[in-house]
Amino acid sequence: MSNWIFLKALLRDKIEINKFAKEIKLQPFKVKQIFFEIFKNQNIDIDQMTTISKDLREELKSSFEAISIKLENVVEDWQTTKFAFKTHDWRIIESVIIYHRQKAQHIKENKPKLNRITLCISSQVWCPMGCSFCVTGKLWFTRNLTRDEIISQILFANNYIKNKFWKKEDGILFWVRNVVFMWMGEPLANYDNVKIAVDMMLAQDRLSLGRRHITISTVWIVKWIQRMIDDGMTVKLAISLHAPNQKLREEIIPVAKWTELNDLMKVIEKYIKATDNRIFYEYIMIKDLTDKPELAMELSRLLKGQLAHVNLIPYNENPAMKHFHESSIENIKKFKEILEREGITVTVRDSMWREAKWACGQLGWEKVNSGNEEDE
Ligand code: SF4
Repeated sequence: MSNWIFLKALLRDKIEINKFAKEIKLQPFKVKQIFFEIFKNQNIDIDQMTTISKDLREELKSSFEAISIKLENVVEDWQTTKFAFKTHDWRIIESVIIYHRQKAQHIKENKPKLNRITLCISSQVWCPMGCSFCVTGKLWFTRNLTRDEIISQILFANNYIKNKFWKKEDGILFWVRNVVFMWMGEPLANYDNVKIAVDMMLAQDRLSLGRRHITISTVWIVKWIQRMIDDGMTVKLAISLHAPNQKLREEIIPVAKWTELNDLMKVIEKYIKATDNRIFYEYIMIKDLTDKPELAMELSRLLKGQLAHVNLIPYNENPAMKHFHESSIENIKKFKEILEREGITVTVRDSMWREAKWACGQLGWEKVNSGNEEDE
């Protein structure tokens, strides 16, 4: 057997599995066994795959690679684990695990229990959207991630979680329950690969995640949202809105010039009708730019009557972005109160996401800093 990456096949049906099995000279049931180990038993190391025979493990050892990215670095605290991976062409991409914990029920329990796990994944090597407040947008966009690079991030995380928690937290096997396309890149600009990866996440014999446990966060490319409706890709949608009017949008998000806000809102209405899903709006709170009370009023008018949830993201200051500053707690509170008064559901992103330098505008900040790139 030559040196092949198993996951590259990402097989979707029986015919493809049989074809692939023939190609690599393995019986189809053995291919299925390996898939079971990778997707269900959360194993990516051949030695861990004890449900397949010892002979097959030995046979696979010299040529087997379950995932197509290599771990480069891990940074971790008790709320998050942040991974940097190297791709086959030496690019660095990132993912982050967020641990959701329940408050301790009894006084004797000294720490909150792990409840569920979310993974934020990258869809591109850096981001082509170039938003003015964003650190990630300052790094050169290189390419789209392939479908196997997208899925590999989840498989690696599942294996990491298994090794970290198995039998330590009540003997429960934890795995990635929620996947959010909200790390590097604009997922809808890599539509075909993201679509296939989402199919893999939903498939019962693969990751079997629920539709409502997958979120695509997008800056707003209308035609691709329409494509999601047409393709029945009815996962959760988070819109990186960041401004409630066309003028301010264009100021901070260059691609907004291609899309009228009215057109975006129309396609969102269609998406809600087609899916009955609530739409999440990400709104970054930048001092004296996006955090003014009149903008809160404008935002509430824009979203009035819609199945909407606004997530206010306090801006993380960064030395590479000198012109942008974090909104004060008072301003965030005031902004939130205005929206709530107008009947809009609002949350403020909490500290653990911020600690992980999470989301649009925060990623790759170490790289920008180390490269001494300056804001113009
Ligand atoms: S804010 Fe989001 S979409 Fe815009 S450049 Fe940054 S990562 Fe890309």
